[in-house]
Amino acid sequence: MNILVINCGSSSLKFQLIDTKDESVLAKGLCERIGIDGRLVYQPSNGEKKTTEAPMPTHKQAIQMVLDALTDAEGGVIKSLDEVGAVGHRVVHGGEKFAASSLITDEMLKAVEECNDLAPLHNPANLIGINACKELMPSTPMVGVFDTAFHQTMPEDAYLYGIPYTMYEKYKVRKYGFHGTSHSYVSKKTAEFLGKDIKDMKIIVCHLGNGASICAVDGGKSVDTSMGLTPLEGLVMGTRSGDIDPAVIEFLAKKENLDLAGVMNLLNKESGVYGLSGVSSDFRDLEAAAKEGNKKAALAREVFIYRVVKYIGSYIAAMNGVDAIAFTAGLGENDAGVRKAICDHFGYMGIEIDDAQNAKRGEDTLISTEGSKVNVVVIPTNEELAIARETLALVQ
Ligand code: ADP
Repeated sequence: MNILVINCGSSSLKFQLIDTKDESVLAKGLCERIGIDGRLVYQPSNGEKKTTEAPMPTHKQAIQMVLDALTDAEGGVIKSLDEVGAVGHRVVHGGEKFAASSLITDEMLKAVEECNDLAPLHNPANLIGINACKELMPSTPMVGVFDTAFHQTMPEDAYLYGIPYTMYEKYKVRKYGFHGTSHSYVSKKTAEFLGKDIKDMKIIVCHLGNGASICAVDGGKSVDTSMGLTPLEGLVMGTRSGDIDPAVIEFLAKKENLDLAGVMNLLNKESGVYGLSGVSSDFRDLEAAAKEGNKKAALAREVFIYRVVKYIGSYIAAMNGVDAIAFTAGLGENDAGVRKAICDHFGYMGIEIDDAQNAKRGEDTLISTEGSKVNVVVIPTNEELAIARETLALVQ
């Protein structure tokens, strides 16, 4: 079956058409600047990448352009939309309502809408994408795959904040966690790759990208994760602060004469390694600047690494052990230096990195030595494939 995977943001939309027979990608691309002017980047597996500038005032028009490109007589990869068996949509926040992926129905969409408060930037955009797709492909089954669902197995002591319980009862304020599709995919793949049953494993997954989070997976279940009510908690990220003393918010509001939205913008968009370094949110730029003697760029990298180390350490304690640590996403898959620096902190536990293995790229790799007490692996994440698999399982 061909499954169209859609990840719809407020002004952009990423897509992949995946043939589940062999899990190959038939075509992929993205629409950018929806509602502004509009650009479609389309890459069929058997042809050249094509960029088309065309007006896309609404998401419906953007999706229509994607469907036209997929079925185009020249660059298309299918003859008609009948060849799309199902659509899998990424949905950011499923609150406590969704502990698994779900077939899209009117009732289900209402439940997603009720989670909008929890992710005001993301969920409404996801819903716009789903509704536009439904209008254009009314008889095609669709599935919502949630970033939060995998973490619904967290126990109460891990997900509750130390604030009045009534805040949880009234507003469901708690830790939810994100990147669940990636943490689930990578933890399963880690067990497979090491030839072990995930039920017998304690795994720590480090999803280190522009947004970054860590997850403790015990016996295949998420038992704790670093992001919280929103994706702002946890690690120091590209532009997000991660954990801070909550009192910083009032302090900065007063000193900088900012309202709440202003402080939240500072913490989400002007902080992280970007804010610390004043250089960039991209670790390649930080490394280059550090090499040229920029001390703040070097410091930002160190602060990032130290926070990751603290989370890994706390999850080893939370699970009372660890069998494998997995690195994934842009930085986790590509930056051997960051991986090595993180793992060197765990020498006392008998973790040892094989430098030659650590230098490899682009494939599932064991980067720890034979004698290392814990297996350390790099597993490239593939959220689109994970969404396609979830979708197939629900529509079959
Ligand atoms: P997201 O999906 O959250 O936007 P990605 O997983 O694509 O992020 O990761 C992007 C980040 O990965 C970049 O900002 C950069 O810091 C890092 N990155 C990507 N490629 C490399 C590389 N070759 N070396 C070091 N860091 C890299």
